[in-house]
Order: sequence, then structure tokens, then C-alpha cells
Amino acid sequence: MIVTIPATRTCVGKYEIGKTLGEGSFGKVKYAKNVETGGSVAIKVIDSDRVLRHKMVEQIKREISTMKLIKHPNVLQLFEVMASKTKIYIVLEYVDGGELFDKIAKHGRLKEDEGRSYFQQLINAVDYCHSRGVYHRDLKPENLLLDSFGVLKVSDFVLSAFSEQVREDGLLHTACGTPNYVAPEVLTDKGYDGTSADIWSCGVILFVFMAGYLPFNEPNLTALYRKIHKADFSCPSWFSSGAKKLIRRILDPNPPTRITIPEILENEWFKKGYKSPHLSWERM
Ligand code: AMP
Repeated sequence: MIVTIPATRTCVGKYEIGKTLGEGSFGKVKYAKNVETGGSVAIKVIDSDRVLRHKMVEQIKREISTMKLIKHPNVLQLFEVMASKTKIYIVLEYVDGGELFDKIAKHGRLKEDEGRSYFQQLINAVDYCHSRGVYHRDLKPENLLLDSFGVLKVSDFVLSAFSEQVREDGLLHTACGTPNYVAPEVLTDKGYDGTSADIWSCGVILFVFMAGYLPFNEPNLTALYRKIHKADFSCPSWFSSGAKKLIRRILDPNPPTRITIPEILENEWFKKGYKSPHLSWERM
């Protein structure tokens, strides 16, 4: 139920809506306060109209059901979903450290230890999601948010797919994602394994963390695709040899020989300072 209180306070259910935090492909994301607990949340406000017009109902439903299954310290938590006649409200864990992408855009590349720490958290999140049959498929720094402690939270499961959507040949068939971060096999229409495609994107992200620029970046798509297919990139001189070796194993254009998550977890460069995630974290 939506109640507008005279002193311009808008409430949706038990949440008092505040300022706009950002804008995504589906609409605005608002800050809100749980009036019962005083806790902060973020609410994605989606026009039902827009959903119907763009036939996005299935996509939204998928995002919601995906996120409900996922509870991990490095994945943005979904609390609840509400709907009015004109809007859909998706209530999410609020994080106030901003986008990791903005941090890199503002302050430049990360030091190797910092890049590794975020990469470890990203791999923990992706490993957890994969173990539940969920592939993100749109991993990029813009989808990585930070909380006030600097803990990484993977957001935006809009394009994620369940393993049920995997056809009998065991491969996913929808090409999606941002070209710069997309695995070569996703660009061809032969179907792909969501696990190794996500690992490729994590490799591109790790490169961006530590280089401050993209490994594959061309002015036109044809040239970009060519470079991605050949994994034609070079690491900057400041990468350590351990980092270079790991990135080469991740950005292997051939999915069957690409490094797997269990192998990444055993990699010497990766293991430095690694803290395994404890899953018994408390919800707000
Ligand atoms: P999205 O629709 O998920 O792409 O979100 C658009 C923008 O809103 C993000 O880039 C963030 O700046 C902000 N945002 C999204 N979710 C949250 C959240 N849970 N807490 C704080 N800010 C968020």
C-alpha cells in the first residue's frame, strides 16, 4: 500500500522513500528506510507500464526469483517485492560504498593486493551462484557495488539464467552482456557454458582492476570481436608474473581448456591473503 503523508513523506509498505541513488536499465533506484526497524534499504522502482510495454515481465520475474535463492555476503540481498497498479518495488540490501567502477574511474587502477582482494570476493560470489545453477552473464565493474566496509556486492541479476534454461546439450543459448567483458563463445551463436563464460568476464574485470583500462577495446565491434576471439591482449609491465599467468589462463579463448573455479582457488597468486567466505552472515 502506498501512502503519501502530508509532510511530503512517501511510504511504500513499511518503507519511507528518500533520495534517488541511481538509475539502471529498469528505472530509478531509491534510498528508503524501514520505519519499523530504522534500517536502510534500496528500492528499485519499475514502471509496470514499461514492463508490459517492453514485455519484460518474464525478465523481472527471473531477476526476483534468482535473487531470492541467493544469500551470500558478496551478493546483493533481495528482501521483498511489492507492487501497486503502476509500479513494482524491489526492496534490496542498501550499500553505501558506491560502484567499484566509479572508484577506479576516479582514483585509477588498484594496487595488486587490493585488486586481488576484490577478485577473491568476486570469485566467491560467482562460485556460490554457480553452485546454485545461477550464471550472472553480465559481470562487469558497473555491477560491483561496495558497502561501507569495502565489501564487494555483486548486483544486477537481470540477465542471469537458471540451469533449467540450459538446453539438452547443456549449453546456454542467449547472447547477452556487454561486449568488452563477454567471452568469445558467447559472441558466436553455438551455445555456451555459463560457468566458463562468467570466469572469462571475471578475468577481464581482474585485468581492469589492476590495469585501469580494458584488455579488449576497439573503436568498432568487428575489430573488438576479432581481438576477443583470438584473446589478443597484452598485460602491462606492472603486473606481477603470477597475475599475468593467471589472467592468461582465464582469458583462454577455448572454454574447455580455460581455468575452472576450483583451479583458481588453488592458484598461488589468487591464494595470497585469501579469506574464505563465511555464509552464516546475519540479514538486516
Ligand atoms: P541497477 O539498476 O542495479 O543498475 O542500479 C543503478 C544504480 O543505482 C547503481 O549503479 C547504484 O549506483 C545504485 N544502486 C543500485 N542498487 C543499489 C543498492 N542496493 N544500494 C545502493 N545503491 C544502489
